[in-house]
Amino acid sequence: MALSARAVQLKADPRCVFRGSTVVEAAHVRNVLVHAAIPCELRNDQLWSALGEIPLPEAWPQVWVEDERDVERARAVLRELERGARMPAWTCPACGEWLEGQFTHCWQCGAAGPPRARA
Ligand SMILES: [Zn+2]
Repeated sequence: MALSARAVQLKADPRCVFRGSTVVEAAHVRNVLVHAAIPCELRNDQLWSALGEIPLPEAWPQVWVEDERDVERARAVLRELERGARMPAWTCPACGEWLEGQFTHCWQCGAAGPPRARA
């Protein structure tokens, strides 16, 4: 039946760790996961631009981790990202790398960031 085929198609895959309404958002999440040494890929980014309009949620850009064993770690990173979204960006005092607020340490050289109040 067509209905069950659709259900199978939309079945949640645990490796899909993020779905965002814009490619920019999804690409940012992908970058953060790559920096955390979690292999992952963007999906639906080309489909989205081909549509040229706001897509249905099923067609939104998605971030998939390549290895199912990384799913838990990826979700933890994304929780940190959410928490850090309200924190200001900072510049690494050791190497000058520009870092977004969610990073507590420089991903380039490992130096600790400026002290700040934790939410
Ligand atoms: Zn640094």
